[in-house]
Amino acid sequence: MSMVMSSNQNSNQGTAKELPAILGGKPVRETKLYYAHQYIDQADIDAVVQVLRSDFLTGGPAIESCEKKLCEITGAKYAVLCANGTAALHIACLAAEIGEGDEVITTPITFAASANCALYCGARPVFADINEETYQIDPADIERKITERTRAFVAVDFGGQSVPQKELLEIRDRHGLIYIEDGAHVIGTSYCGRMNGSFADMTTLSFHPVKTIAGGEGGAVLTDNEEYYQRLLLARSHGITRNRAMMQHVPDGPWYYEQIALSTNYRITEMQAALIESQLNKLQIFAERKKEIVRRYDEVFSKIPGLYVQKETEGSDTVRHLYILRIVPEHLSIDRKQFFEAMGAENIICNVHYIPIYYFPYYEKLGYRKGLCPKAEKLYEEIFTIPLYYAMTDQDVEDVIRAVTRIAAYYEK
Ligand SMILES: *Cc1c(COP(=O)(O)O)cnc(C)c1O
Repeated sequence: MSMVMSSNQNSNQGTAKELPAILGGKPVRETKLYYAHQYIDQADIDAVVQVLRSDFLTGGPAIESCEKKLCEITGAKYAVLCANGTAALHIACLAAEIGEGDEVITTPITFAASANCALYCGARPVFADINEETYQIDPADIERKITERTRAFVAVDFGGQSVPQKELLEIRDRHGLIYIEDGAHVIGTSYCGRMNGSFADMTTLSFHPVKTIAGGEGGAVLTDNEEYYQRLLLARSHGITRNRAMMQHVPDGPWYYEQIALSTNYRITEMQAALIESQLNKLQIFAERKKEIVRRYDEVFSKIPGLYVQKETEGSDTVRHLYILRIVPEHLSIDRKQFFEAMGAENIICNVHYIPIYYFPYYEKLGYRKGLCPKAEKLYEEIFTIPLYYAMTDQDVEDVIRAVTRIAAYYEK
């Protein structure tokens, strides 16, 4: 039997280090494991099929019902389902009446849409640096970046843990800003005992299949503010209203509707809404399993000198969306790229979240340059995302652990 086969998966400090697969060792598993995967059961399938047999494929009762469910879960007063998380960010910015000449502060360590939503409205994204331990946007740096043009900030619950709501709400109130929370990762998480979704002026969600709740595509905006709610409804559907109270002309007849703002078609289908609601019925079990996996990962990885584990925001009871590992360069003889590739050779397919947004050529063209957020830039050099999702088996989890520990042990300095 080879050394690799016979080694105990929990002992890495022994003299005989396991040879990583990238150097010719046997991969920890035969089949590839990806960083995220949806979980669809019969109830989900039935929910979608039921819609397909009904009268409404869009604009019907499944959307209303799912919106109600989102309000129940998050404690928000209103929910507006829409085409995807990007559309959610765009309609939130439209509802906030962000426009030309405005600045919107956000983090560079996020998906491009968190900053693009400002650009869609003619505003300028401004990047604030992160807290180097939690990787969340740093409230103190938001405050440093505020100018007389700042209208809003978009804070991202990176990886699923809550942003520091208390500090962010203080900044909002002190400077009279609009606070949009990009909660694409956050569903299920609570902060100081209260579910995320009703802290910010508007909170956006995403139901892309890699996220905790899968809708194929899908997004939502949550708000407690009636005025924002009305504008979100408008922005979801062309800026068109059938609400008499909002009309500016006298209706020509019962068929009459009016376009009073400019938007596009950001509606979601009934099939997606039914799937999302059915998935939301499993939020509790999704959350419990993810927490269990995270506890197991934390327990092992926090003891490895070559690795740093994301620190929890104070007050956040987190349902993790992403499990981020950060290498500690002083303790490893390989860099992040080499670690990432070594994981791939073990058939554990990792990812990197995220490339700082302003590195992209499109942002360079707009005048952004490296050096804006040094902590975010350093983080980007050192992180990778390992698999974390509900449907992982215990064996999958142990495979990831074995791959990480074997590589870290082999290359320990
Ligand atoms: C996924 C994601 C989005 C966009 O959501 P889509 O539904 O894919 O449009 C926005 N922000 C963050 C942080 C995300 O992870």
